[in-house]
Amino acid sequence: MKLIRFGEPGKEIPGILMEDGTRLDVSAFVEDYDEAFFADGGLAELKRWLQGNAAAAPRIEHTVRLGSPIARPSKIVCIGLNFRDHARESKMEIPVEPVIFFKASTSLVGPNDDLIIPKNARKVDWEVELAVVMGKRCVYIEPERALDYVAGYALHNDYSEREFQLERAGQWVKGKSADTFAPLGPFVATTDEIPDTGHLGMWLKVNGAFRQRSSTSEMIFDVPALVSYVSQFMTLLPGDVISTGTPAGVGLGMKPPQYLKAGDVVELGIDQLGESRQKVVAWQPATAETVSGRPAK
Ligand code: ZN
Repeated sequence: MKLIRFGEPGKEIPGILMEDGTRLDVSAFVEDYDEAFFADGGLAELKRWLQGNAAAAPRIEHTVRLGSPIARPSKIVCIGLNFRDHARESKMEIPVEPVIFFKASTSLVGPNDDLIIPKNARKVDWEVELAVVMGKRCVYIEPERALDYVAGYALHNDYSEREFQLERAGQWVKGKSADTFAPLGPFVATTDEIPDTGHLGMWLKVNGAFRQRSSTSEMIFDVPALVSYVSQFMTLLPGDVISTGTPAGVGLGMKPPQYLKAGDVVELGIDQLGESRQKVVAWQPATAETVSGRPAK
């Protein structure tokens, strides 16, 4: 199944993207794709419900905005320096253990929402990434069992402000957490749709020019290893996101470095996980109010 959420920001309701591109409204059966949905076996029940009810479910127009395909999770955990080609580009050592950092869950937005350059930001950069969405609560799991706890996968752009991240002291989280810095989707593909995450092509363009072109086969630590590793340090809840790192081709690695400016257009995709597109806009006090601080549903 491919899970989508659609509607106005903060008022999204759940849907399903069918193989033929049809979008179904499933809000008659599911309240939201949130922690309770995944924890209570919602995926299996939804699959059963669709068999009898898909034909009669309301269709959603393609002009309707897509939101993040999951409700705001308890946490977004990111992996740094997890691609061999990116480590080479950054002239960094291959990490002995995965590098972990957080991204504020308020940075989550829809796949085609505008990217807002944060207040006082000058070095906004892109990172196409494979995101893992957890399906069950877990802690201290072995790699061999890790995928049993995963609900599915999604396309993610781990936007980063390099000055905030690297030049403002302390942890990377400062450069990773601004509003709109985590466009997710267009959909979450459940694990049965992608049995092998080890050979997925991934790409990103800025203003039509390729910047990143790689594959998950460049990953240093694979998805089961990462899920297991993160669970050694924290409990993962249903709906939590683990973003698995970016390949070569970020703006920071260009000579000279190149960063995004208002008016730029960023497009990205991963095999079997669709494509997304963000227009870059300048920060304004009014836009901050409309994007952040929305009450959780
Ligand atoms: Zn990243």
